[in-house]
Amino acid sequence: GSLLIGSALRKSYGPTPALDGADFSIHPAEVVAVMGPSGSGKSTLLHCLAGIVQPDSGSVRYNGRELSSLPDRGRSALRRSEFGFVFQFGQLVPELTCLENVALPLRLCGTGRKPAEAQAAEWLERLEVDDVRGKRPGEVSGGQGQRVAVARSLVTRPRVLFADEPTGALDSLNGERVMQLLTDAARDTRAAVVLVTHEARVAAYSDREVVVRDGKARDMAGVL
Ligand code: ADP
Ligand code: ADP
Repeated sequence: GSLLIGSALRKSYGPTPALDGADFSIHPAEVVAVMGPSGSGKSTLLHCLAGIVQPDSGSVRYNGRELSSLPDRGRSALRRSEFGFVFQFGQLVPELTCLENVALPLRLCGTGRKPAEAQAAEWLERLEVDDVRGKRPGEVSGGQGQRVAVARSLVTRPRVLFADEPTGALDSLNGERVMQLLTDAARDTRAAVVLVTHEARVAAYSDREVVVRDGKARDMAGVL
């Protein structure tokens, strides 16, 4: 069955709804692209599904549990342990080395420094950026920074990876390589990927596409 299901989601920030009745579902290990023009509500959908934003109405169920029924602390704990995140701009911690950045999510889950950094090093290798481990984010290229961000997003082996325009700031060659590495790693670890993008060549790495238009999304996979 589905791992994560959003139903009839609505969210308004002003007079025009950002989400106006959106449905979405994803199976374990599935890669689903959320497509649509700028401003159509893709990021808002991702934020609702990840429990970062509370929808005004509708439901989000993860593993059979309604997210809104969890206390804030429960939702935070779920995000830390079961979800991973990667955004357009890596959002790495500038004061930490790349290795420390990748180790950070494990450290926040209580893993000791040595084992956390050993796993982080493996992930940097897997993303083919082992050489930047001792550098700070300000000293690496955009492509390298996004690979570090992908490593950080998967180091905890999340069940769902939320990726919002993960290659939006890269040139097409770097973008394609990052998408290849990201989807390979997600498939190896059986992470489901909610991939927000407006680019067809990024969506090409997905198993399936869901289109958002004016805050409305119809996901037929839940019905079929
Ligand atoms: P997309 O990801 O498809 O570009 P968004 O979900 O970011 O679309 O935005 C959908 C609409 O909601 C846009 O009109 C946007 O300006 C508005 N919006 C999104 N987030 C906020 C926010 N935090 N505050 C106010 N308006 C927002
Ligand atoms: P990529 O192919 O990932 O875009 P580049 O060709 O841009 O990499 O960068 C090559 C090398 O230059 C990298 O090893 C990186 O360390 C260095 N570099 C790139 N951008 C920057 C930057 N903004 N600041 C410091 N060093 C950089």
